[in-house]
Amino acid sequence: MRIPLLDLQAIHAPLRAELDAAIATVLDSGAFVLGHEVSAFEAEFAAFCGVAHGVGVANGTDALMLALEACGIGPGDEVLVPAFTFIATAGVVSRLGARLVFADVDAAHAGLTAATVAPLLGPATKAVIAVHLYGHPAALIELRRLLEPRGVVLLEDAAQAHGARLHGARVGGFGRAGCFSFYPTKNLGALGDGGIVVTREAELAERLRLLRNHGRRTQDEHLTPGVNSRLDAIQAAVLRVKLRSLAAWNEARRRLAALYDALLAPLPQVTRPGVAEGAEPVYHQYVVRVEERERLRAFLAERGIATAVYYPLALHEQPAYRGPRWPLGAFPVAEGLARRVLSLPLYPGLPEDAVCEVCAAIADFYSGKGA
Ligand SMILES: *Cc1c(COP(=O)(O)O)cnc(C)c1O
Repeated sequence: MRIPLLDLQAIHAPLRAELDAAIATVLDSGAFVLGHEVSAFEAEFAAFCGVAHGVGVANGTDALMLALEACGIGPGDEVLVPAFTFIATAGVVSRLGARLVFADVDAAHAGLTAATVAPLLGPATKAVIAVHLYGHPAALIELRRLLEPRGVVLLEDAAQAHGARLHGARVGGFGRAGCFSFYPTKNLGALGDGGIVVTREAELAERLRLLRNHGRRTQDEHLTPGVNSRLDAIQAAVLRVKLRSLAAWNEARRRLAALYDALLAPLPQVTRPGVAEGAEPVYHQYVVRVEERERLRAFLAERGIATAVYYPLALHEQPAYRGPRWPLGAFPVAEGLARRVLSLPLYPGLPEDAVCEVCAAIADFYSGKGA
């Protein structure tokens, strides 16, 4: 594709010398799992989020799983998750043996709101996982107001939203824990897998440190059965270098998103993403909603423009969860999004000309020109 959805080479090229040096430092240190680079990164990323503690883990999925476990969620507990998200958000609930409850999302920002969650709360509800889909913060303030008095744990799946803000504060610190992924394609990506849980609570952070490392307190003493889910030093060293550029990268994403917004505004067939009051999204994806999506995708591909669909199925439509408990039609907003969402090329370093070209091609498609 002439205009790719994401170009990691372009993102890494200006940092190449720094990344090489960071990797060499770890190689020379001989400390490869946890250790200095990991604790330094944990502190730096937690500070970036405006939160006191960070616990590095092996990936974003483990971040969610261990956060649930550290909050005491287990078999018999109900956990609410959006019906429209990456499958990991729901998978961890099932894997823990907790009872998964899907909630629909709001049409405007594809996230949970008090209105979609409230009717599903019951005596067994122990936690809600809000997802900041595409980098747009979920309705955290109203969710917290709804859940806190009921003693229901609010967790944030911030895997797509490193640095996003709501009323001035970065996501990750609104819930009891914020869970991030450093999968290479995320706004902050490692050169492999990685993840972190951030939290304001020292005690929760301590439980997470135990759980991620075999329940180990000292070399020979294990307080609880844990898992092996540690961040490694090479990834941490790379993430420390890349973290210094994250705010600028997010700003670049926002500028490109604003350009898309302006150029697509004249097209009534294209619904643009929109921004909730007080929200400062980081556009992990720039996602429009369109009818005739598959024909538009083919038309753009013909012109060398890559697009993607996140996600073509709502979670209750996935083979993993399909069944009588959630019939088709159970979550109309999620199902509607799955039919219409389309991600357009967006990454720091994408030339503005490319955005203009994508928008011109979409305009041609809907005017019947150049078909
Ligand atoms: C990427 C992602 C995850 C999982 O992160 P991994 O590091 O791939 O395990 C979870 N939730 C959402 C919303 C994601 O986008």
